[in-house]
Amino acid sequence: MSSSKHFETDAIRLQTERSPHREHAVPIYMTSSFMFDSAEHARDMFQGKGEGPIYSRYNNPNVDEFLGKLTRLEHVEDGIATASGMAAMFSSMASFLESGDHVVASRAVFGSTHQILTQILPKWGITSTYVDPADNEAWERSITPNTKMFFLETPSNPGLALVDLAHVGRIAEAHNILMNVDNCFATPYIQTPADYGAHIITHSATKFMDGQGRVLGGAILGSAEHIEKVRFFTRHTGPTMSPFNGWVLSKSLETLAVRLERHAENALALASQLEHHPKILQVRYPFLDSHPQHDLAKKQMRLGGGIVTIEVDGGLEAGMRFLNGLQMISLSSNLGDTRSIATHPTSTTHSKLTEDERQAVGITPGLVRLSVGLETREDIIADVLTALDKL
Ligand SMILES: *Cc1c(COP(=O)(O)O)cnc(C)c1O
Repeated sequence: MSSSKHFETDAIRLQTERSPHREHAVPIYMTSSFMFDSAEHARDMFQGKGEGPIYSRYNNPNVDEFLGKLTRLEHVEDGIATASGMAAMFSSMASFLESGDHVVASRAVFGSTHQILTQILPKWGITSTYVDPADNEAWERSITPNTKMFFLETPSNPGLALVDLAHVGRIAEAHNILMNVDNCFATPYIQTPADYGAHIITHSATKFMDGQGRVLGGAILGSAEHIEKVRFFTRHTGPTMSPFNGWVLSKSLETLAVRLERHAENALALASQLEHHPKILQVRYPFLDSHPQHDLAKKQMRLGGGIVTIEVDGGLEAGMRFLNGLQMISLSSNLGDTRSIATHPTSTTHSKLTEDERQAVGITPGLVRLSVGLETREDIIADVLTALDKL
């Protein structure tokens, strides 16, 4: 079916393959390679003539179906799916950056993205400068003659800092700089960075996109011209998504809209309930009036998302004690699952950062990230309140 330009219909009905069995659900093409009819057919396929898959490192019907939907939902022409979000982040940088290039990045990026920018890319002479996500002027100020890419995440993990997509898009265009946006926390249901001028949109599909904590995956999306460069890189370096994960994620997209509506309703209810709790110093959620970038959130996001961060009174020890007081909510480092999850960044996901680095991105010792799931809202809220009572 061709695109209807309606999110839910596209996410459910765009389908690339149907076998002679007329199956309703798409089968899984669990095969490493595909056959050629003749030596000439093989030759033509390798010359880029002819339709269809060759080898699952290049393309596969399940992965292509997932990408067909996701490119439509993100308002771009083409994409590449990867085995994990980090494979997408690294490939999206390595495909475009050369020795001597410079990146301006929001300081509030995912922990492993920070390691790529500060430890891995410098091995090849690629440097970067961090800017405060809320400081619009800093992007232009940080440009050097070698600046090739802007990299940002909005909302950020875990601090929920926002970057003004329209503003950064204008600066990127004026200076001919590639704008690369990790859209993992919002997903295309909540915001589509391409509409603000982003050239590359990157994803961890592991989070809300799968939404049920089953598979790892990632994606890199953009114009046909840009993705051609990424395709060359991924085809020859191999960080490819498996057919099974492509099948799971294509199915997951079918329910993305309804899931995010409920995640966001539950998250807003929890955040509002906790806002004036005596044992909490701060609650952060983009759609709370008290979020320092609330106006920007309302402007560029359809919903506030499914993540709420709280800072419990009492620092590191209280943060860990709060986690131990939870009875239903899982202790895990994942997020975006149907099951609510609590994470204490200082002692786990961000423990490799220095105290100063954590401070710079607002990760205080008492900060807890709550990924608000799809359980009955009253049960989620009651579990959090009970754990707070025990502090
Ligand atoms: C989890 C996450 C990643 C990394 O994704 P993986 O699938 O775990 O490799 C990148 N960016 C953000 C914002 C994330 O939350």
